[in-house]
Amino acid sequence: MKKLLSLVVVAVMVFAAFSASVQVSAEGSDESNISISLNYITGTLTISGTGDMKDYPLRCVYDEYDPSIIYERYNNAPWANYCNLIKTVEITSGVTSIGEAAFYDCDNLTTVIIPDTVAKIGWGSFENCSRLENITIPNGVTEIQNDAFKDCSSLSSIELPNSLTSLGMSVFANCTSLTDITIPDGIEELNGSLFSGCTSLGNVVIGTGVKYIRGGVFYGCSSLESLVIPDGVISLDSGGFYNGPFTNSGLKNLVIGNGITQIKDLTFRNCSSLTNVTLGNNVDTIGGQAFQNCTSLSSIVIPESVREINLSAFSGCTSLAEVTFMGRPLIGKHVFKDCTSLSDVYIYGTSEDWLEIRLCADEGNTYLIRATAHYINPDPCAAGHSWGPGVVTLVPTYTEPGERTYTCVVCGATRVDSIPGLAALPGDIDGDGVIAVKDLPAMKKALTGVSGVSVITVNCDIDGDGMFTLKDVSALKRMIAG
Ligand SMILES: [Zn+2]
Repeated sequence: MKKLLSLVVVAVMVFAAFSASVQVSAEGSDESNISISLNYITGTLTISGTGDMKDYPLRCVYDEYDPSIIYERYNNAPWANYCNLIKTVEITSGVTSIGEAAFYDCDNLTTVIIPDTVAKIGWGSFENCSRLENITIPNGVTEIQNDAFKDCSSLSSIELPNSLTSLGMSVFANCTSLTDITIPDGIEELNGSLFSGCTSLGNVVIGTGVKYIRGGVFYGCSSLESLVIPDGVISLDSGGFYNGPFTNSGLKNLVIGNGITQIKDLTFRNCSSLTNVTLGNNVDTIGGQAFQNCTSLSSIVIPESVREINLSAFSGCTSLAEVTFMGRPLIGKHVFKDCTSLSDVYIYGTSEDWLEIRLCADEGNTYLIRATAHYINPDPCAAGHSWGPGVVTLVPTYTEPGERTYTCVVCGATRVDSIPGLAALPGDIDGDGVIAVKDLPAMKKALTGVSGVSVITVNCDIDGDGMFTLKDVSALKRMIAG
């Protein structure tokens, strides 16, 4: 209570002078090491000093009988009554944070200068700054708290620094002019309504460090057309809310990376523009209502990894005409309910494999059961491999046969053929395939019983008399001499 009182006193002392018409600026402090001055001719609010700014939680007007209902929220900083004068906020080097709700509802704020000493941008600090078009967040900022830029309806571009490791909920909610964003690699989690209602947001690059996307992160992002979920993302979920991360978005093209094993309940429900979906190769479960009412989806390939597809996962996908099963999933109740266009089902395998798919044969899967089944032979070389030229993998000798290995250019299968051993070459004592001067000492070594000469019996009998004698040495000399 004492602290609150002193804040009020400071605020009164600092800004009492503002009412004097000759005054062009006011100065004060926020009872920390931070000084504040406002020039209300230029509209520049300067914040200087060292350390953290104070937080200025909003002043709220609650319902008389139900305090959970808030009618109005007001800026509660010392400059609250002068917010509309502020065009520029200049924070000087040494300041380490931007306080909670500090510039809430500063409608004329267009320029913000933040030094690289700032590490934290506080809760709701720029919320509802409706003229703020762009802002540079310096490298050094590690945390942007909830609602920091919420309802900044003119904010069209913002570059997040690589130093950033924490991005709160609803930070950019309802930034209706924001067109693109790159999430730095240091961010691990996208949470809450982070980009909810960003109706211009078309281009999102998700950093390699992101592991979790939870809550209505892209709820209502009607311009979001394509999104690649990198392999690093291991969880997409609704975070306990009814809306999944992409509910009511404009998402058309979606690639789910290999980090995702479970597509949880409701995740893509009502994505009515979703046309192309590539499921990752490690998806194990497709949750209940996960793609319900994706009315533009015309085909889907269920990877081999999928073991189960749960209640109503694709129900109401009225354009879905083709479903391909690469594996043998368990298909639960009503999975393809109201999929009135479903005409063709493709199975990697045979008709026996199709029967192995454990299908809940209820009225909700009638369209799947009635669809024409096509069987895709999973072995592209069933009619024979296409062998390449082959390579010698074991060189034949005079005593042992060799091997040549062939690889199928289609499927990579291999085949090993034997190569016959070399025919005898009388005179090639060292077995290198040619008769040369060095065969003569080799022959003399062999004759005197010196080891190290491998091919003796076949090649040493040059005169063909069945024996290996000095006569053969003379014969070899003549051969070499020509
Ligand atoms: Zn093959």
